[in-house]
Amino acid sequence: MDLAEKLKILSAAAKYDVSCSSSGSNRQNIPGGVGNAAYSGICHSWTDDGRCVSLLKILFTNDCCYNCAYCVNRITSDIPRASFTPEEVIELTISFYRRNYIEGLFLSSAIYRSEDYTMEQLLRTVKKLRGEYKFNGYIHLKAIPGADLKLISEAGKYVDRMSVNIELPSDRGLKLLAPRKKKEIILKSMGGITSYIDQYKEERKLFKHAPSFVPAGQSTQLIVGATPDCDLRIIKLSESLYRSFNLKRVYYSAYVPVSDDPKLPSITNPPLVRENRLYQADWLLRFYGFSAGELLSENNPNLDLELDPKASWALRNLHLFPIEINKADYRMLLRVPGIGVKSAKRIAAARRVGSLGYEDLKKIGVVLKRARYFITCRGKYYGETAFRPDFLRQKLLDKVPADSGGEQLTMFT
Ligand code: SF4
Repeated sequence: MDLAEKLKILSAAAKYDVSCSSSGSNRQNIPGGVGNAAYSGICHSWTDDGRCVSLLKILFTNDCCYNCAYCVNRITSDIPRASFTPEEVIELTISFYRRNYIEGLFLSSAIYRSEDYTMEQLLRTVKKLRGEYKFNGYIHLKAIPGADLKLISEAGKYVDRMSVNIELPSDRGLKLLAPRKKKEIILKSMGGITSYIDQYKEERKLFKHAPSFVPAGQSTQLIVGATPDCDLRIIKLSESLYRSFNLKRVYYSAYVPVSDDPKLPSITNPPLVRENRLYQADWLLRFYGFSAGELLSENNPNLDLELDPKASWALRNLHLFPIEINKADYRMLLRVPGIGVKSAKRIAAARRVGSLGYEDLKKIGVVLKRARYFITCRGKYYGETAFRPDFLRQKLLDKVPADSGGEQLTMFT
């Protein structure tokens, strides 16, 4: 099989992996080297269904010995198979880079022969790419869960970001759909990467030229909708992953129906609106000081598909609102629907100089379309509706109905 044919198969096979954001690294070029990685915007592109893809986003192989029911690459799937050699991946990366097609490499893999064998191939690729070919662009490498930690730790010296995919949010889901995957093995690999990151960080504090290890951090991916797991379970899992493993990102991937296995839900479209709500809830965990338990509960285990999670939380906690914009603490400002980190900071800074009225908020760039239902300015309420959850909900409802066939919603406005 020629290289172009392999590329066609293995780039198509990689499209289900969404954890390809390439931010967070800053690698300067070296004399005689090729490429550099900047803090932002490296080789992102967005497909029409809203997924982030990079031009050179490939699997090393799709010839998998596992049989995960939800995956197109499972051993029983009747698809064309292909595998690269490390040299072929290097050739593609360097030549694409030189032609300005890409600024980085996202390399994942199915499990061919064994976890260790596959990880060895990935390690050989990135080691040679950095060492012999002096490629200095961004590399995001998938670590193979269950592979020898020595192989994973060696590979981590050459890449910017590493991820180990958890895929299914519960043990029960793994047992049902991916019986060869074990939660404790996946977590052991993640834990190994976290402790290497910490160890190398400490060494760099002592020795300026100590090597770095996965400088852009670790991420993972969760598939949403392949199992009956509720959003509460998913968000709680993400919260504990951020805390325990200091993950940079958890990516959520709406389950794409690729198999008619009766163990899978019979859906025709991926649950993209749910995926988007999970990203919004995740954002609230990371940047707005919310906890999973505030956003969801056993009585309310799934995110509202019609309203973003912050608005939904505010409507369930109306007793905390409206807040007086001149007095509320910063934490509460952040919790007002429609007020983001930037606006909250602007308000906090501006009110130090003088009391703020409604028009003053507009002048400093605070968007009041949603926020006005939850605030007062100098004691006056500008919501122009009854301060009741049903009335406010009606005002806040997104324009795009939840059942509109999976149109991607915006993040916070
Ligand atoms: S191990 Fe990965 S590539 Fe292989 S079947 Fe499972 S999810 Fe697919």
